[in-house]
Amino acid sequence: ITTYTGKRVLVLGLAKSGVNAARLLRKLGAKVTVSDVKPLAENQDARDLQADGFTVITGEQTADLLDPGYDLIVKNPGIFYDVPVVKRALAENIPVIGEMELVGEVADAELIAVTGSNGKTTTTTMIQKMVDHDRKAGRAVYAGNIGIPASKVVQEVTPDDTLVLEVSSFMLAETTEFRPHIAVLTNIFSNHLDYHKTRANYVAAKMKITANQTADDYFVVNFDNSEWRELSKQSAAQVVPFSRLDQSEDGAYETDGELYFKGEHIMAASEIKVPGDHNVENALAAIAVAKIKGVSTQAIVAVLRSFGGVRHRTQYVLEAGGRQYYNDSKATDMEATEMALKGFKAPVVLLAGGLDRGYTFEKMIPSFKDHVKAIILFGQTADLLAETAQQAGIKVIKKTENVETAVPLAYQLSAVGDIILLSPANASWDQYPNFEVRGDRFIKAVEQLTGKQEEI
Ligand code: ADP
Repeated sequence: ITTYTGKRVLVLGLAKSGVNAARLLRKLGAKVTVSDVKPLAENQDARDLQADGFTVITGEQTADLLDPGYDLIVKNPGIFYDVPVVKRALAENIPVIGEMELVGEVADAELIAVTGSNGKTTTTTMIQKMVDHDRKAGRAVYAGNIGIPASKVVQEVTPDDTLVLEVSSFMLAETTEFRPHIAVLTNIFSNHLDYHKTRANYVAAKMKITANQTADDYFVVNFDNSEWRELSKQSAAQVVPFSRLDQSEDGAYETDGELYFKGEHIMAASEIKVPGDHNVENALAAIAVAKIKGVSTQAIVAVLRSFGGVRHRTQYVLEAGGRQYYNDSKATDMEATEMALKGFKAPVVLLAGGLDRGYTFEKMIPSFKDHVKAIILFGQTADLLAETAQQAGIKVIKKTENVETAVPLAYQLSAVGDIILLSPANASWDQYPNFEVRGDRFIKAVEQLTGKQEEI
């Protein structure tokens, strides 16, 4: 483990992760300088750090930032490797690491890390709940890409605790010795090629999750794709597969709608509260991890029966008047909405629309045809989506002001047994500050309409 005492460290890029990394480094005895592009006048993070005695430099991050001399650079994933200051650091052999590397080094607790193109947050949350439900000693907490700074949480955990980290490919790209005891790869699709440039780079970044693991560790991998199965052979850890199709008996798998771990029956897939086949995959990954950790089957089942999904991600809100309400505000593109629709067997009254990014929606016709009985549209793309809905043969197509006014309308247009789903297929920025606010407003409107509280 690196000693930080007296080390001169430059933290590049603030926001939540940079601020917490800076504070952690100082606690470890480093001499910390922080740099952020945003001018001091509009940079609360920088001002707070300055008030606490950190050396703060704001403005453009040019190569001469390094002139004072540093032993280590800790950079935010948002800063690319080809910016001049990072290039100069690398040329001068100054180590450049990210927050996760730091967290991995200083963590006292056992580390579980989850990566993948999709399903990270859901799987991370399921694992945390299962391990925490069956506490033998410490707590289980989550952090990382899930929105809670890992460098903050890592200061609060004890050796009895389990720290479940959601790690993005960007975070992994900045690690060198990061070694979780249990690593999870949910899947690899072709996301984020803009950042990683090539698919090979993207895959390589994801595989860093297992790069430093040994035979004492575990690598939990989705075996439903031959590429991912092949990739697992690169790992020195014990590979534990999970699979919906392959029924690989070495790990977690589904047969005829029933879930098993190494031959032991766990539960029926239909008992999982969060809808959709993709959530069966996430549940299988979580089951594998929980079983490796020695969590009881009873605890696993209790969590999967009650966990209604991560907020804003096909989140079960409540049931009233025979209708089930779901909030999938995180669905800011067509693929996410298609995925959500496929998860439902009952007819869906869909609430959709939002920021116009200049694309059309023909791709959605099949899933509209199969699942949507009525559609209520708002935002900049309302007209475009109405056209698509018409082409898909949806009979009831309504336009309205916003999410709040769509909710009572959805109730009127629905019948007992229907699903009322907010899954906008568009970003929120034409009408809301972000998808979280959009989802919160939906939940509030549902609570007002039904007189019931969101179930958590
Ligand atoms: P991430 O944290 O990787 O973005 P989430 O768990 O937040 O993933 O899920 C985001 C969306 O991705 C979901 O609403 C769903 O549409 C889709 N998704 C979730 N899990 C999977 C999966 N295992 N395979 C494919 N898509 C998934």
